[in-house]
Amino acid sequence: MKILVAVKRVIDYNVQIRVKEDNSGVVTDNVKMSTNPPDDNAIEEAVKIKEAGKAKEVVVVSVGEEKAQETVRKALAVGADRGILVKVDGVIEPLAVSKILKKIVEKEKPDLVFMGKQAIDDDCNQTGQMLAALLNWPQATFASKIEVKEKTLEVTREVDEGLETIEVNVPAIVTCDLRLNEPRYASLPNIMKAKKKPIEQISAGDLGVDVKSRIEQIKVEEPPKRKAGIKVASVEELVQKLKNEAKVI
Ligand code: AMP
Repeated sequence: MKILVAVKRVIDYNVQIRVKEDNSGVVTDNVKMSTNPPDDNAIEEAVKIKEAGKAKEVVVVSVGEEKAQETVRKALAVGADRGILVKVDGVIEPLAVSKILKKIVEKEKPDLVFMGKQAIDDDCNQTGQMLAALLNWPQATFASKIEVKEKTLEVTREVDEGLETIEVNVPAIVTCDLRLNEPRYASLPNIMKAKKKPIEQISAGDLGVDVKSRIEQIKVEEPPKRKAGIKVASVEELVQKLKNEAKVI
């Protein structure tokens, strides 16, 4: 079995996001970038399945600028076998990413595609679902447990009502939740070894995919500042304020 894992390079989740002065987007210059957090869970799960002898190869793919190579390299350092970087300049929307990933799936012929449930920069939660639709493959989204069976996968999904367990035929798309596993850290020897693992570079143009934006971003603004809280002296005062000022009781 071969597993393809899609990883996105995003602003690190610890960074305090700043909006550009002209409201055209957020500041990315000299800002720490990292792998989109649930994509780390997707890599971890693929590597664990390989270590359990249920997969032969883990291939990682990222769509983005030249620097996304670092994100691919990090995945190689935690156990992926080889990488693919599809080079695109600037912002790329989920529909274009899923069309590119479809081309990569047709070329690589994986049995499974693992992705993150959502990218923390655009919060779209669309790419996995769109890829499943384009390929006409089954999808299991928000996976918090994956069990590989003979020709199917049993996937437990985190839904509003609790946990839902479904079975999907392989090949399938799985989008991973943060609770799926605990991603490992790359050891120094594995970081060194990863430098020798191959990364194929392809340009989106060579794949014949139109990456033009279909969404016009009008402006980006900071959320309104929260007002400072106050301290009350007693429970009675709190109840009074909730009644008379907040009017919630
Ligand atoms: P989104 O639909 O943007 O919330 O992204 C969901 C998932 O799709 C991410 O967690 C990644 O696994 C994958 N993905 C989105 N954009 C890219 C990209 N540029 N390169 C590789 N994978 C991506």
